[in-house]
Amino acid sequence: LSERLQSALQKLRGKGKVSEADVKEAMREVRLALLEADVNYKVVKDFIAKVRERAVGQEVLKSLTPGQQVIKVVNEELTRLMGGEQSKLELKSKPSVIMMVGLQGAGKTTTTGKLAHYLSKKQNRRPLLVAADVYRPAAIRQLEVLGEQIGLPVFSLGDKENPVRIAEEGVARAKEEGHDVVLIDTAGRLHIDENMMDELKAIREKVKPDEILLVVDAMTGQDAVNVAESFNRELELTGVVLTKLDGDTRGGAALSVKAVTDRPVKFAGMGEKVDALEPFHPDRMASRILGMGDVLTLIEKAQANVDEEKARALEKKIRTQQFTFDDFLDQLEQVRNMGPLDELLGMMPGMGQMKGMKNLQVDEKQLTKVEAIIRSMTREEKQQPEIINASRRKRIAAGSGTTVQDVNRLIKQFTDMKKMMKKFSAMSKGGKKKRRGF
Ligand code: GDP
Ligand code: MG
Repeated sequence: LSERLQSALQKLRGKGKVSEADVKEAMREVRLALLEADVNYKVVKDFIAKVRERAVGQEVLKSLTPGQQVIKVVNEELTRLMGGEQSKLELKSKPSVIMMVGLQGAGKTTTTGKLAHYLSKKQNRRPLLVAADVYRPAAIRQLEVLGEQIGLPVFSLGDKENPVRIAEEGVARAKEEGHDVVLIDTAGRLHIDENMMDELKAIREKVKPDEILLVVDAMTGQDAVNVAESFNRELELTGVVLTKLDGDTRGGAALSVKAVTDRPVKFAGMGEKVDALEPFHPDRMASRILGMGDVLTLIEKAQANVDEEKARALEKKIRTQQFTFDDFLDQLEQVRNMGPLDELLGMMPGMGQMKGMKNLQVDEKQLTKVEAIIRSMTREEKQQPEIINASRRKRIAAGSGTTVQDVNRLIKQFTDMKKMMKKFSAMSKGGKKKRRGF
């Protein structure tokens, strides 16, 4: 979706004047891009109508940068389509109960673990996980393994017990042991089926959940939306978790779930690991789809590890090309905690296409070696890498217990990275330059 939308809007970006025909043409492309991305037909129709109305209106044609303005309108409408504001969990009861529902394979069990981890790490809560899927072989064990991994207790009564009773006793146990939130992992089926719904309704009646979260696989596109509609009709969901958004290149489900079901997407699963769950931000998702880069998420990630001032200073250095080996070293220390580098790159504006660049992939095992090499450089060498000649390379290799090849490789990597940063800052300035020409 991103690519098509970007190219449709790229044509408008630098325009000093936008005619109604230009807007029409762009809207035709946007419409195709959305349909191709498996966005619900009706949703597309409403969306285009709204954007067109605003785009040919005063708001845009009279503005100084109409091209940019159209993009802004598209961005705002995409954000609105996905619910506008970020939707938070509403956990009021004591203990609060979250019921996880969805089809088999959607990612319920994994998400139950991720969400418990999130609540305990980010909100200082004390979750209890409840294993109420007694049908899928090894489902209970799967949740127990997750629980061990994240250091949280899992309540189960084996697979011979009735799920309704398991849920009920799980909540009772949570009360006894002072847990403030209970997450119930329920059983799914391959397709929507009456037995499943009846069981879920029975659980709902007994435990009166604060949240009923539907877990759906974003990669299934329009199907995910249909599933959400059925579940919502039967159970009155409070929200949706979109999983496997890391593999969803089309974005159709993310764009239509809220519009079709009127239930907000509250979280997004971004990978298989327990920390790969993010609160869903409609505005950031819209920017990501439009290829403006998810700068906010990126900054947030950085801030979790680096302090704000440092992050700002670094951003400035990247912009002004003053990035040195000292900064490089500083960054390497953060990288370990920030997550995979290519994931971070994907969030930078204009970086999507560059993900494949091999030299950027810092092998975590190599980090120690790299650190040793940089630490063996003199102050001068770190600040002005150009001066590192052959004899200096030999000295650095000896000092760090590595080989000259290792040193060469690092310097090459550093130089490539700088070049890449240069491209990156040129790219994000590109739009402005063009406009100045008009
Ligand atoms: P359940 O049947 O609904 O409980 O689904 P599971 O939790 O067992 O997940 C099914 C598969 O999807 C597992 O292999 C998970 O690792 C995988 N999975 C779940 N969430 C995500 C996600 O956000 N991204 C990716 N890439 N895989 C996921
Ligand atoms: Mg499961």
